[in-house]
Amino acid sequence: MTVQQDILNRYLFDDLHVRGELVQLSESYQQIIAAHNYPVGVRQLLGELVAATCLLTATLKLEGEIVVQLQGDGPIGYLVVNGDHQQNMRGIARLTEETTATGLKDLIGKGNMVITIRPTKGEPYQGIVALEKDTLAECLGHYFEVSEQIPTKIWLFHNDESQQVAGCLVQLLPDGDDKAKQLTDFEHLCQITNTIKAEEVFTLDAQTLLYRLYHQEKVRIFEPQAVNYQCSCSEEKCLAAIAQVEPKELASIIKEQGKVSMTCDYCLTTYDFFAPQLASFLDDVKH
Ligand SMILES: [Zn+2]
Repeated sequence: MTVQQDILNRYLFDDLHVRGELVQLSESYQQIIAAHNYPVGVRQLLGELVAATCLLTATLKLEGEIVVQLQGDGPIGYLVVNGDHQQNMRGIARLTEETTATGLKDLIGKGNMVITIRPTKGEPYQGIVALEKDTLAECLGHYFEVSEQIPTKIWLFHNDESQQVAGCLVQLLPDGDDKAKQLTDFEHLCQITNTIKAEEVFTLDAQTLLYRLYHQEKVRIFEPQAVNYQCSCSEEKCLAAIAQVEPKELASIIKEQGKVSMTCDYCLTTYDFFAPQLASFLDDVKH
């Protein structure tokens, strides 16, 4: 039996004012790291960030995009993942030096996590926390604690051999009257969730796993959502960037190379533009 992957599950513990999420990724993650030749530690951290971004986008109550960026003084200059409410994901790691390091601390060094939420309608907003904890999962929990004041716990898993990543979230809901009891229920669900083993999260389908964990709770599972790799680059966006370049400089690039090439950082697609396509940007230059 093949286990269904690239799926996000959301569920609600009806009587407990707590919600949960489980995401299991393989192909979408593999497409993000394909062709980039990242060392193992970087593959792992990027994978964890992809799973985490899936979990975060699923907490959004609005349509839009979320960008999670880690930046620091370590061998990874920055690591960024973009996701939207339809669970379309892309991401990239930018290395400042070759590295065999693993783990958040050794790869990012001293740094921050910047979370930007861009609603389709409305103003974007941003939250920043220092990366002071040992793992990305703990840093995300810290982010929710400081910036949103919502008790949240996140678990992240990575398997380099099978190139799979997964994540789990347990979050207290802001509704309900008995805060002390809610918090006890939240802790209880965290303890149960904490028993997930990596081998289970990578080999069991969501339904089996959720039953194994929460069969003693009343849990309502919503329609699962597919997670896809999708890069948002396009010829149109490249042309918009080219329009910002000085016409003189463009003309000299065309003279030297016969074309203007742009390669997307994320998916490594190269877009080539030749003089006739760029004519409108070259108007000011005499040939
Ligand atoms: Zn692209």
